[in-house]
Amino acid sequence: MICYCCQRDVSLVRRVLLRGDPGECPPGGFASPADPAYQAYLHNNAFRTAFICPGCYHSLDNEFGVGEIGGRAFNLAGKSRGGRVPVYSRHEADKLGMMDDEATGPQLPLGP
Ligand SMILES: [Zn+2]
Repeated sequence: MICYCCQRDVSLVRRVLLRGDPGECPPGGFASPADPAYQAYLHNNAFRTAFICPGCYHSLDNEFGVGEIGGRAFNLAGKSRGGRVPVYSRHEADKLGMMDDEATGPQLPLGP
């Protein structure tokens, strides 16, 4: 399984709610809600399910849930901090039907 943050192939993952660095809002704002840059901003600003390795989890599980891994900034959702997230072995992940490509990143939009 590939860790979403460090991209290493790992045998244990934690299932978390994570978002990447949303980037900067441009000076003067976005041109319109249909602006692809705005859509990307919203996409990056939403917490999504991700599978990350214990090492990355440890790096991000701090008071603010923020950290930088491999030159990218990540933000761990509050309810995923403090070790309160499930850990899956490769075997368990297989049983649950988590495919490798799902483990590569947050792709599932979460409800409000
Ligand atoms: Zn990792």
